Amino acid sequence: MAESGFCRLALERPMKIEIIRSKKRKKTVQAKLVDDRLIVYAPEKIDNRRLEEIIENIRKRAERRELRKRLNEDGDLEKIAQSLNRRYFSGRLKFKSVEWTTNQSKRFGSCQFRERKIRISHRLAQMPDWVRDYVIVHELAHLLEPNHSPRFWKLVNRYPYTERARGFLMAKGMEEDESL
Ligand SMILES: [Zn+2]
Repeated sequence: MAESGFCRLALERPMKIEIIRSKKRKKTVQAKLVDDRLIVYAPEKIDNRRLEEIIENIRKRAERRELRKRLNEDGDLEKIAQSLNRRYFSGRLKFKSVEWTTNQSKRFGSCQFRERKIRISHRLAQMPDWVRDYVIVHELAHLLEPNHSPRFWKLVNRYPYTERARGFLMAKGMEEDESL
């Protein structure tokens, strides 16, 4: 099993923060992202600790959004999903999109059965390819079978590293997506 496929994307790119305090601004804090700079507009008299908290939240959200954009810009995930579709489902699965998401860190992925949309947690981008592929196969199988039924597992088990990948994910504390 090749381990060479580890994704070496730098997931955390530090963001520069510039704070502009204004007398005219009464209460609200606003921010905009210009390249890799986060410009924060704040009331002049805002409490420093409060401002820090707000900025931290804005920064986290902005970084997650940036990361998601960056992960999805090459469209590779969709190509990988298509090739797994051909290999394990004879290419018969139809889906609208397969995308990285940055707001699922406990769940490894999700499948919107009716919308035919699959989302994969960005955490998988840092794991070996065979684990990522298991998760894609798992979510693809949900297009045929929304529940974790014996039929579902029969489909998923076509992928040879299923058991190994499940063990790997369990060790990482990533739960199964039991909601489907
Ligand atoms: Zn599932």
